[in-house]
Amino acid sequence: MEIRITNLNKTFSSPDGDVAALKNVTLTVPANQVTTLLGPSGCGKTTLLRCIAGLESPDSGEIAFGDQVVWSGQGKKPYSVPTEKRGIGMVFQTYAIWPHMTVFQNVAYPLEARGLPRDEIARRVAEALEFVQLAGFERRPATALSGGQQQRVALARALVSQPKILLFDEPLSNLDAKLREETRRELRRLLTQLGVTALYVTHDRSEALALSDHVVVMRAGEIVEQGSPQEIYFRPKSRFVVEFLGGTNFVEGTLVANEGEWARVETPMGQLLCHGADGMSPGRRVTVYIRSDALSPASPESQEPNRFQGRVESLIFVGEYYDAELRVGETRLMARLATTHSLAEGQETPMTIDPAGCRVLE
Ligand code: ATP
Repeated sequence: MEIRITNLNKTFSSPDGDVAALKNVTLTVPANQVTTLLGPSGCGKTTLLRCIAGLESPDSGEIAFGDQVVWSGQGKKPYSVPTEKRGIGMVFQTYAIWPHMTVFQNVAYPLEARGLPRDEIARRVAEALEFVQLAGFERRPATALSGGQQQRVALARALVSQPKILLFDEPLSNLDAKLREETRRELRRLLTQLGVTALYVTHDRSEALALSDHVVVMRAGEIVEQGSPQEIYFRPKSRFVVEFLGGTNFVEGTLVANEGEWARVETPMGQLLCHGADGMSPGRRVTVYIRSDALSPASPESQEPNRFQGRVESLIFVGEYYDAELRVGETRLMARLATTHSLAEGQETPMTIDPAGCRVLE
């Protein structure tokens, strides 16, 4: 079931003045896929999720699940379907499992609250625990589990009511790095298998890329870009998104030609063949983003485009690759180089920049 958000606004008042947490947000969360809301702290991700859950009341706009409107600010009084009637499951940090209950009791709770017969509760809890691979843990006190297992209990509890929509708010942020990676792989597998509409809030870019089918990047209450993880990573449109994803190489220049998919930009390094100047006219000042893995040393006789004479300013071996700082004229570029290249600090070398790794930003 898709989630449709139209012109949603939410402003909080605080002693420091009003904070516009959501500014006219319009978004369709695709049905039966995993979508993440990604962005820096304070950009409005949690507020949007809480509005969808019915835990926060927007100021204006509309939220619909499929054809059913669950919140609308039109009319004299806002129309709102209460949280428990929205058919959602939630795995929030603040909705952690209950420590004084067993695994079974934790997962059974939402069904008991609805007064379901005991045998049906037992059957559905067993199914949910089987699904998250915790069958056999029913009688364990919830606290006698690892962090990752506790998160799976929280997921089982969210699933047991068979929701059409699952909402997650940074559910892995309390786990250590290794467990977080394992749990997110597991979660990806479970969510893909389940095929529900999942909306997941995170400020962790690798979590967003690894988990989602669709990534929505937010900034200061607005959506800046959205697309598949590959689109966001390989074809970003704005400097904000590039920087948020860890990109560092930006070169200023003037667009000299725009040839369909390709563009030529005159820069202090020389002319660069790039992607992404759709609809821009020659003469325009632009910023080109160069991905650090697009740079590589070239053989002297090669004829590739984007060939420059560079100097290796620094070279740090980090195991799987070299973190190198290269200089072309006055331009400094960070590069991630394969360790198969034999290079040394201070060395002058011809190098190429793969045009597919150069993008003109809007
Ligand atoms: P984080 O990753 O840190 O959780 P976020 O992107 O989820 O951040 P929100 O929690 O949605 O951001 O907050 C958006 C803005 O609204 C922030 O500036 C925050 O300070 C403000 N805000 C959120 N809740 C309240 C509140 N109850 N009262 C006042 N301001 C609030």
